[in-house]
Amino acid sequence: MAQLYFYYSAMNAGKSTSLLQSSYNYRERGMHTLVLTPAIDDRFGMGKVASRIGIQCEATIFSAADDLAERIAAEHEREFLHCVLVDESQFLSKDQVKQLAYVVDCLDIPVLCYGLRTDFQGELFSGSQYLLAWADKLVELKTICFCGRKANMVVRRDSQGNAIKEGAQVAIGGNESYESVCRKHFRELVWE
Ligand SMILES: [Zn+2]
Repeated sequence: MAQLYFYYSAMNAGKSTSLLQSSYNYRERGMHTLVLTPAIDDRFGMGKVASRIGIQCEATIFSAADDLAERIAAEHEREFLHCVLVDESQFLSKDQVKQLAYVVDCLDIPVLCYGLRTDFQGELFSGSQYLLAWADKLVELKTICFCGRKANMVVRRDSQGNAIKEGAQVAIGGNESYESVCRKHFRELVWE
């Protein structure tokens, strides 16, 4: 039976690298994968998943309004899919997570989602919320804080390096940067 996986982490834990490696493992065996990426993430140009260590692959873009079950079923009809991989899956809507669960349950295609658990205020993203609730397998990808502890939180910093405490969940085109920190340092930077 296929399963729904959620690989979650803070920033820069190698989520895209892990996605690209998994997709490659299927393709190396002559199997077909579909890599999906949300329209919201255009850091590397549209329709691409790129890793910080320099590897990349073509990806199919989806928008917040897309029915992913329909899109994946159509693609599966055209060419048998062995696996679907979703980058930046924190941006999925509740309905889209449900649609991916349908793909697993009714089309029997494994779906591997990669995404952030929480935003810069320590709140769950919608996609992460429902993946944490409904995925068959939860896998944490680990990264470390500057202090050496496991980093499970993300801090957004302005151009002066100050931690930002309020604002929209997704900042587009700003000068902000993101850093993964442990909860103790998140507390000092954001909560206190
Ligand atoms: Zn720390």
